[in-house]
Amino acid sequence: MIPPIASKFVAGESAAEALDHARQMNDDDVAVILNLLGEHYDERGPADEDADVYVELVEDIASTGLDACVSVKPSQIGLDVGDEVFEENYRRIAEAADEHDVFLWCDMEDHETTDVTLDAFEELAREFDGGMGLCVQANLKRTPDDLERLADVPGKIRLVKGAYDEPAAIAHKKKSKVDEVYTDLLEFLFDEYVGGIAVGSHDPKMIAAARELAAEYDRDYEVQMLMGVREDAQRELAAEGVRVWQYAPYGGKWFQYFYRRVRERKENALFALRAVVGI
Ligand code: FAD
Repeated sequence: MIPPIASKFVAGESAAEALDHARQMNDDDVAVILNLLGEHYDERGPADEDADVYVELVEDIASTGLDACVSVKPSQIGLDVGDEVFEENYRRIAEAADEHDVFLWCDMEDHETTDVTLDAFEELAREFDGGMGLCVQANLKRTPDDLERLADVPGKIRLVKGAYDEPAAIAHKKKSKVDEVYTDLLEFLFDEYVGGIAVGSHDPKMIAAARELAAEYDRDYEVQMLMGVREDAQRELAAEGVRVWQYAPYGGKWFQYFYRRVRERKENALFALRAVVGI
């Protein structure tokens, strides 16, 4: 069982618990993106098994009628085993998602995976004519070109700042530069991109920029934030009528994810400490 200290960031160990979490968030008008924790499998077995879980999960989301969708990681569904294993599993999940009308996101991992992830997404998004979204990272210097390429691809783009420590030759390293590029890319999306726009950020400045651009270009957008991070803001935005999606990970491999969340910010570490000492 997941200890209460970790359950702020992780929606349980089982799919049933994760769906239950989605139901609770839906009550506050927040939709939920479910992600089964797992990555970097170097054998086909676990990659296929996690793909099976996603297929079942989209069926469960459809049958429960929850306002929820799923997000997969390429290395979770076979990319480290081989491009073709990833492509086969991605296609299998995309077919199930399309059949059950459940939205399918693909996370973006480190820069060595960008080309194959983009190619696979573009092929499937064109074939299924949307219903799918891809995460792109503002810190990578290549991203403006990638967004030009994706401009007429149906689906959605989740713009994030980028979570991986990439080499300076290919990535912006200064936070102020990443923030500047993020807002430029956001403007490009509002201006040129045919599909849906997701602001994958907890940053009030990026969310305010999206709000202004939406008014200027008269376009919709959505905000995506992680479970356990600025949840008050998630509810407030939803109450104001912004479409908010909470990214909620679940599954047996919760410890590593929880540890990352606690290490990355003082607020999260303080929360964990309070839970331990009971204050
Ligand atoms: P930061 O630049 O970290 O912080 C800016 C401001 O936001 C802070 O000053 C503060 O005001 C506020 N803030 C941020 N965190 C907190 C907090 N914990 N508590 C209170 N206030 C806070 N990265 C990838 O590389 N690939 C992915 O597929 C991917 N998917 C993601 C999906 C979602 C839904 C989200 C939200 C992020 C995802 N990321 C992904 C991570 C992303 O790249 C960033 O590393 C991460 O979101 C931190 O950047 P930020 O824009 O949220 O805010």
